[in-house]
Amino acid sequence: MSAGQGGWSRRFELSRRHLFAIGGGLAVAACSPVGGAERAEPADDSGLRSAVRGRVLLPGDAGFDRARTPWNLTVDQSVRAVVEPADADDAVALVRYARDTGRDLAVQPNGHNPSAAVNGTILVRTRALNELRIDPATRSARVGAGVSWGQVQAAASGHGLTGVAGSSPAVGVTGYTLGGGLSWFARRFGWASDSVTAFDIVDADATARRVTKTSDPELFWALRGGGGDHALITATEFDLHPAPALYGGKMVWPVALAARVLAAFREITASAPDELTLWWSLLRVPDAPPMVAVDLTYLGEAGAAETLLRPLDRIEGRLRDTRRSMPPAELGTIVGEPTDPSPISSHIELLTALTDADAVNLLAEPMDPLVGVQVRHLGGALARPSDSAAGAVTAPYYLGLIAVQPAPAAAAANEDRVAKFLGALEQSRSRRTPRTLLGPRQTAADAFGSDTLNRLRDIKRRSDPKDLFRSNFPVLNGTAGR
Ligand SMILES: Cc1cc2nc3c(=O)[nH]c(=O)nc-3n(C[C@H](O)[C@H](O)[C@H](O)COP(=O)(O)OP(=O)(O)OC[C@H]3O[C@@H](n4cnc5c(N)ncnc54)[C@H](O)[C@@H]3O)c2cc1C
Repeated sequence: MSAGQGGWSRRFELSRRHLFAIGGGLAVAACSPVGGAERAEPADDSGLRSAVRGRVLLPGDAGFDRARTPWNLTVDQSVRAVVEPADADDAVALVRYARDTGRDLAVQPNGHNPSAAVNGTILVRTRALNELRIDPATRSARVGAGVSWGQVQAAASGHGLTGVAGSSPAVGVTGYTLGGGLSWFARRFGWASDSVTAFDIVDADATARRVTKTSDPELFWALRGGGGDHALITATEFDLHPAPALYGGKMVWPVALAARVLAAFREITASAPDELTLWWSLLRVPDAPPMVAVDLTYLGEAGAAETLLRPLDRIEGRLRDTRRSMPPAELGTIVGEPTDPSPISSHIELLTALTDADAVNLLAEPMDPLVGVQVRHLGGALARPSDSAAGAVTAPYYLGLIAVQPAPAAAAANEDRVAKFLGALEQSRSRRTPRTLLGPRQTAADAFGSDTLNRLRDIKRRSDPKDLFRSNFPVLNGTAGR
C-alpha cells in the first residue's frame, strides 16, 4: 500500500522529530505559586541527601540543569532540587521531608506537560519506580510511576492485550492516567482512567496507602482524571483489553486534496463503530510541501477496516500509506511523534460539532507558522457516563493546533494564528480542553465544569490541606488567597 515519492520519506522521518506532538507547553505561564507559606523552611535542601536514598541534585551540582529540564523544552523550570526516590519506601521518606520542612513537591516523571506551577518546588523524577507486571489471566497491569506507555504496550502485546494508550510511547502512564488519558481506543473503552482499579499512593501525611473505589471513593474519583494534586502515586493498577487483531497507520496526500480528505473523514466518522478511530491533520514539514493526513486505528481485522475506509481509499494520489495489521506494541509508530525532548506548543479544544461551515472555515485559514492542525474523532464510550473527575465527553471532535517554538519570539506569531483558527470555528468552540492536554497558559478551570472543579477543590483541601503536592495545573489556582 505504500506510495512514497523519491526522498520524501527520508525528509519526513527527519522532520517528524519536531512535529506531530500534542499537549505540552507554550511558554512559562503566569501562575501563582501555592502553599507552604506558614511552614518553617530550612535555608537549603542539603538535608535531602540524608533524608532519602535516591539521587538528589541541588543547584550547582553537576547534572542539576539537565535533571530539572522537562521533555517540553519551552518551559524553563526553576526548582529547589531534583530527587529520584529509589523505591516506594524512599518516596515516603521524601514526602516526610517535605512535610517536616514545609517544602512543596512537584512529581514530574518526564515533563511532557510542564508549567510554571512547578517553580519553587522539589521536582520528583520517578524513573526508579519501574515495576511493570502484566497478568494475562486477569487481563490487568500493575505499573510503577516511572513506566511509559511504550513499555506497557510492549509487555501486553504478546498476550493479545492492549492498554488504553495514547499516541506517544514515551508518555508516562501515571501522568496521562491522572489527567484522564485520551487513548486511540477511547471510543471503545473510555478514558484510560476508567480502566484503573487501584492506586498506591503516599499521601500528604507521608503515609503509604492503597486507594480503590471502596477504600476511598472520593479520592479514587479525583485521581481518575482530576490530575496530580492529591498525592504522590507510586503504582497504578488497571485493566487491559483484548486486542487479538489491530489495524492502523497513516495516509498522506498533497494538501490540495485537503477538502476531499476532510469530507471523507466526516463521512466515515458520522457512522464509525467504536472500534474505529480517525484523526485528520494538516501538516507543514520543513523542506516538504504541505500535506493532509489521516491517522487511524481499528480494533479488528484489516478487511473490516478497509471496508469502513473506502471513502478515503477512493482519493488517489497518496504520498504515503502505512496502514497494516500490527501488534499493540507498534501503536506508537502510527503518528510517529517525537520521543526526544522538543520545544512543542499546542492549543487543544473540544468541538461541539464539525459542521459544513466549520469545514469550510477550517480549510480557509492559512496554517503558517503552525506545523499541525488536527481534528480527532471522539464520541463512543467517551460520551457515556463516567463516575470519575474525567467525566463524560459529549463533544464529537477536538481541534488541535500545534507549533514548534524554538525561540520565545515565535510565541506571538503562533498565538495569533491559534486565535485565528479558534475564531474560524467560533460556532463549535467548547472552550474546554481535556485535562491531559492543557497548555501552560491554561488552568484547571479550562478542563473542568464548575461542579467538578469545586468537588476537586474540596477533596484537595481535605487530602492535602497544606498544599504539599503541586500539580502542573493546580485545582486551587485562582481561589482565595492563591
Ligand atoms: C508527544 C505527546 C503526545 C501525547 N499524546 C497524548 C495522547 O494521545 N492522549 C493524551 O491524553 N495525552 C497525550 N499527551 C499529553 C500527556 O498525556 C500529558 O502530557 C501527561 O501529563 C504526560 O504525563 P508525563 O508523566 O509523561 O508528563 P509529566 O509532565 O512528567 O507529568 C504530568 C503531570 O502528571 C502528574 N503526575 C505524573 N506522575 C505523577 C505521580 N507519580 N504522582 C503524582 N502526580 C503525578 C503531575 O501533576 C505532573 O505535573 C501527549 C503529550 C505529548 C508531549
